[in-house]
Amino acid sequence: MGANDMIIWTPLASGIYSKKSVYFEAANAEPITTPKLQRVGALPLREILQRRGLLADTVTCSHCGEAETAAHVFLHCRFTKRIWKALLLSNPTDPDTLDSFKQATANSGMICLPPSGVIQPSNHLRSPTAIDQEAVICQTDGAWKPKNGDMDFGWIFLDSTGQTLEQGSSTEPYVASALMAETITIREALLQARMLHYSKICIRSDNHVLIKALNSKQRPVEIYGLTLDIETLSSQQFFFIPRSLNNSAD
Ligand SMILES: [Zn+2]
Repeated sequence: MGANDMIIWTPLASGIYSKKSVYFEAANAEPITTPKLQRVGALPLREILQRRGLLADTVTCSHCGEAETAAHVFLHCRFTKRIWKALLLSNPTDPDTLDSFKQATANSGMICLPPSGVIQPSNHLRSPTAIDQEAVICQTDGAWKPKNGDMDFGWIFLDSTGQTLEQGSSTEPYVASALMAETITIREALLQARMLHYSKICIRSDNHVLIKALNSKQRPVEIYGLTLDIETLSSQQFFFIPRSLNNSAD
């Protein structure tokens, strides 16, 4: 089904962004200016770079085309003004009334009010707690043979009273792992559900790792494309059930 490219947060092995890791990175980061520029205490603005012969021609701001001076970048560029306007300051400041960035930072009334930025609700990290009564229940199970990569898998659709609606099974060669086998099983079951016009599906699997991955959207690289496929197939909830309760799908 063609998964998209994946954005990975390289400072962490998991590849998943966290605010904590940003603070750690910032605390340990190398200065972004060169040693020479640090000595003269200047930022590599185009105006300064050109004065030192480091830039041959263009000395203008990439946002508006005016000369890229410190006052322009931090105060007077139309792009910068939008940022000033959006800042939650205890004493809102009009950058046009300021002549230099030094003057801006010396302005005693500039206290940044919390909360700044949008906080993402973390509900998607929690497992659903209640089964949607209108959903068709789907139990899946896959058996994978490490020796040759063959897998056998099955699925069963049940209504809310536990009556069997449909069931099926299939096989697939050359599967890389047990986790991949379980994920393929769920995708196959959802493809069947689509053909049967089931719009809401409640998936039950005894693979804890997979259910956790599907609920948290923290996709292991190994099954990244498959989990994206699963996400695009109808509306689903994912629940873990103990192996002892998953016999019907075997
Ligand atoms: Zn500008």
